[in-house]
Amino acid sequence: MAEIWQRRAWAEVDLDAIAWNAGVLRAVASPAAVCAVVKADGYGHGAVPVAAAALAGGATSLAVALVEEGVVLREAGLRSPILLLSEPAAEAMGEVVARDLVPTVYTQAGVDAIRRAAARASRRVDVEVKVDTGMHRVGADLDKARELVEQVVQAPELRYAGLWTHLAVADEPAHRFTGEQLSRFDALRSSLEAAGLPAPARFHAANSAGAIAHASSRYDIVRCGISLYGYLPSAAIPPELVEVAGGGPLRPALTWKTQVSLVRELAAGERTSYGRAYALKDRADIATVPVGYADGVPRGLFGSGGELLVGGRRRPVAGTVTMDQLLVDCGPDSGVKPGDEVVLIGSQGTETVTAQEWADRLGTISYEILCRIGPRLPRRHVRGGAGPL
Ligand SMILES: *Cc1c(COP(=O)(O)O)cnc(C)c1O
Repeated sequence: MAEIWQRRAWAEVDLDAIAWNAGVLRAVASPAAVCAVVKADGYGHGAVPVAAAALAGGATSLAVALVEEGVVLREAGLRSPILLLSEPAAEAMGEVVARDLVPTVYTQAGVDAIRRAAARASRRVDVEVKVDTGMHRVGADLDKARELVEQVVQAPELRYAGLWTHLAVADEPAHRFTGEQLSRFDALRSSLEAAGLPAPARFHAANSAGAIAHASSRYDIVRCGISLYGYLPSAAIPPELVEVAGGGPLRPALTWKTQVSLVRELAAGERTSYGRAYALKDRADIATVPVGYADGVPRGLFGSGGELLVGGRRRPVAGTVTMDQLLVDCGPDSGVKPGDEVVLIGSQGTETVTAQEWADRLGTISYEILCRIGPRLPRRHVRGGAGPL
């Protein structure tokens, strides 16, 4: 629990919702397994408790972007397989081996580095090879993939554990390029097989959007990030796809709460905050809320019609969001008082504001809103919103 001297602001993360979402995704993707993507501190939700909840809910492995992120999970005692989604630097391969992380490789230098690290540790290490089928971010070129796979297969220090790729437009279900990427991936798989190379333990291609909207991308395992946290990757993906297969909708896990710190009645014509950009048309109660852009409230929330929930009602952000605080227009005779609960993202009474709503206002995606909730805001992990763990 928070100390009494601490600012009253926190993100409540419902681990039952995470576990539920993992179960829904498992039902959606079955017989493919679910890998819970917990990079960027679990998309801002707290990587360690989220990972544990996802595993309890039906995920069978984890994935992160950075070696550091894998180390955090291992230090917390999590023992399931952890895939690194990018090739680690050569200098990091010793740590990769020591922490029993599964590196992805796609360069000659990467294969050489993990071989050396494995040899130094006298260990045989699982390795996955990533190929670029059109995203053009990271991965081996298709015409170099065979050579790389051969090296991994032949290296006595390595075990060829996976071959995978990443989809560029899976969140636009009507886009033909996903099919094109999957055909390239399938052609590569066939050519490797024809060349007599063994199949790895797992093939994979799907992110959340692939898992939900492209059945042919599921292969052996789907790598789910945003959907695990309760959001669909884009508005183009029909929610029914999850509901029909999974037996229920995804549940957003994060609620951002704080409390009103101060309320003043201001007269018509008064202007608030930096730049004096918000003018009161009528007298109103202006409530001060003790979170700001240093906590991850986008400064653009004012100016794009952003609203918060106070007293079960939507209230507009009243002026420029500042580093540590923002203002809310509660209208005249609101009855709002210091200590009242404020919900920035989540539900209060019958009203709900989602990270998707903020994203739509700001021309971005829910991922960015969630990842940017800053480290200064405490995360409280709860079960079913019923109370702290
Ligand atoms: C982040 C990431 C994912 C998860 O994507 P979501 O859209 O959040 O499900 C999957 N695969 C790779 C390679 C990623 O970088």
